Amino acid sequence: MSDNILEEIFIKRSQQKKKTSPLNYKERWFVLTQDKIAYYDFDSDKGKRKGLRGSVDLEKIRCVESVQPEPNSPPERMYAFQVIYDEGPLYIFAKTEDARAQWIKKLKEMVRFNKDLIQKYHPCFWADGLWLCCKQEVKQAMGCKVLDNKNGFTSKPSRRWGSRKPLPPTPTEPLILCMTVMAEYDYTPMTPQDLELRKDEEYTILEMSDQNWWKARDKYGKEGYIPCNYVVEAANGLERFHLRKCLCVVSQNKDGGFLVRDSSKAGKYTVSLFSKGGGETSGSCRHYNICTTTQGQFYLAEKHNFGTIPELINYHQHNAAGMVSRLKYIVSNRARPPSTAGLGYGVWEIDPRYLTFIKELGTGQFGVVKYGKWQGQHDVAIKMIKEGSMSEDDFIEEAKIMMKLRHENLVQLYGVCTKQRPIYIVTEFLSNGCLLTYLREGLTQHPTAVQLLEMCKDVSEGMAYLESQQYIHRDLAARNCLVDGNGSIKVTDFGLSRYVLDDEYTSSAGSKFPVRWSPPEVLLYCKFSSKSDIWAYGVLLWEVYTLGRLPYERLNNTEIVDQVSRGLRLFRPQLANEKVYSIMTSCWLEKADERPTFQELAMTVQDVLYELQ
Ligand code: ADP
Ligand code: MG
Repeated sequence: MSDNILEEIFIKRSQQKKKTSPLNYKERWFVLTQDKIAYYDFDSDKGKRKGLRGSVDLEKIRCVESVQPEPNSPPERMYAFQVIYDEGPLYIFAKTEDARAQWIKKLKEMVRFNKDLIQKYHPCFWADGLWLCCKQEVKQAMGCKVLDNKNGFTSKPSRRWGSRKPLPPTPTEPLILCMTVMAEYDYTPMTPQDLELRKDEEYTILEMSDQNWWKARDKYGKEGYIPCNYVVEAANGLERFHLRKCLCVVSQNKDGGFLVRDSSKAGKYTVSLFSKGGGETSGSCRHYNICTTTQGQFYLAEKHNFGTIPELINYHQHNAAGMVSRLKYIVSNRARPPSTAGLGYGVWEIDPRYLTFIKELGTGQFGVVKYGKWQGQHDVAIKMIKEGSMSEDDFIEEAKIMMKLRHENLVQLYGVCTKQRPIYIVTEFLSNGCLLTYLREGLTQHPTAVQLLEMCKDVSEGMAYLESQQYIHRDLAARNCLVDGNGSIKVTDFGLSRYVLDDEYTSSAGSKFPVRWSPPEVLLYCKFSSKSDIWAYGVLLWEVYTLGRLPYERLNNTEIVDQVSRGLRLFRPQLANEKVYSIMTSCWLEKADERPTFQELAMTVQDVLYELQ
């Protein structure tokens, strides 16, 4: 008996690993087996299958859905479907509606218990650097349409799948969004196009074409742009439990304080609960994963199943049922609003008359950096670019892209002043300054293991975001991280080294080149990649755990190039245990592709952090 569950010849769209390679469409022989979808070359005359061209493991699949045809799609590409897995969508075109429906149904059935199913997807294609549905320009951007059946298998397949007659192709209609969100912070408009937000009020989202600024309507019918990181989706009913990524329930120090947060596994949630235990003063934080039964019900402690997470939480607010305590207080751990991507929607050129200079922070590669205010109230850092130190036109072009990068562990670029000389770069201000100085002077003599690891986690998350945007930092080091008022770390100066005009800095033989943070492939062939950033991250961990010592302090640059390419590595710092050191050494593997990704590192660091708490 054949192990093949389904077999069919479909057209496959190339997956464009490189930005420059053109799209192509090829007929492939698709085979679905118990554990993968594989596709093969075939001989159309003899009707025989030939070499394997690729495959997707079913366990990696996160969503299977149809895709609306492109506006001028040829007839053979009307019935598309997408198999979304960790490398993005695989687009497949069936010859008929029925064939498509059959595959989608079967696949959904087979992946319905997968770990990382997603609940939002893109109903249209990713083409020419854009999602045709929501116009977002980032391939990894979260889907803009909620799945009707919350992914996975529904016992009642939609009628369309069962229909015999092929339906006329659906025109690509503009996506109608009616997502309701709730404001987590107040937001005062910075431009006339912005809309004011009031904490805890609901807003309707009208447009999401910008990845940072969404068009919204308030309950009075007023419309305008809002920073999308100030709101949470009100659809899943979780927002009132302060869904957070953060770990610091402990800092609240209230017995029974809890929050519901994203788990380290995508799409799952964890309840973090602080408990003082048997009258001790310190207390501890416990983490309970919210599990799902095969029937799709949620539970924290066995035998108490609920249809929704809010119901589950409600139950445990009254019953400890196996946990150290019942859930007593919802903890909100972020009082201060996050940074916005720019100072208002569409603003990136800043009028220097709105800037006030307050004090000098230091001097860097590009000259003096000052602390100041924008419009008299918003804290900013202003880099005044010394003439001749930067290729300004190239940077100004790049700044438009940099502005769109937004993550709580990246120093936000707010805008630039380019109409005068020197030009200014205006960024978020972090009151505790540079991480290297903070490690050397600002920390206590005996920082806790949690403190040090939290720093590493912050950096790994900022870098995982850059990696997801295929953005290479090129100069990651403790000196290029800053510390905010709460001790959180943010990465800064990403990509900036490309615009430095100084051979001592840009040439790998130059005295200012970050040799101590560079892997062999950079030192020998100037090959930069996210994997060279990974190496630098390992060195940054080492800086953290030595409280800011100079890596390879006894060696000069020439000796480092020589010895590192022959296998020398940094020693284990006293403060780093074996687990932490093994994270460092994994970043320093000789072969770049054997090093972990930031995504993986962030998860590993988080796991070690859980063990500590
Ligand atoms: P450059 O990138 O031009 O080399 P740096 O980023 O090293 O300059 O900035 C010089 C100093 O200014 C840093 O060491 C830091 O102390 C301070 N600084 C820079 N940016 C900020 C900021 N956004 N918030 C607070 N301090 C900052
Ligand atoms: Mg710098």
